[in-house]
Amino acid sequence: MNCPVCQKPVEPVAVALTFKIVGPQATESLCLSCLAAKFRTTRERLLDAARRYRDGGCVRFQGLDLG
Ligand SMILES: [Zn+2]
Repeated sequence: MNCPVCQKPVEPVAVALTFKIVGPQATESLCLSCLAAKFRTTRERLLDAARRYRDGGCVRFQGLDLG
């Protein structure tokens, strides 16, 4: 899957975050950089959130590269 904004490959963690933020109805996912821009945050803060989800036991984030 490629990012609809910048056409780069979407990282697995960005897909997992989109599912978490937007919900299961999400039909496409932005890459981590575009996701950060959309939510006016940074990649690092998104990765922090992903780590919290993982540490909280969310299976979507197990085994992902969280930088
Ligand atoms: Zn992008």
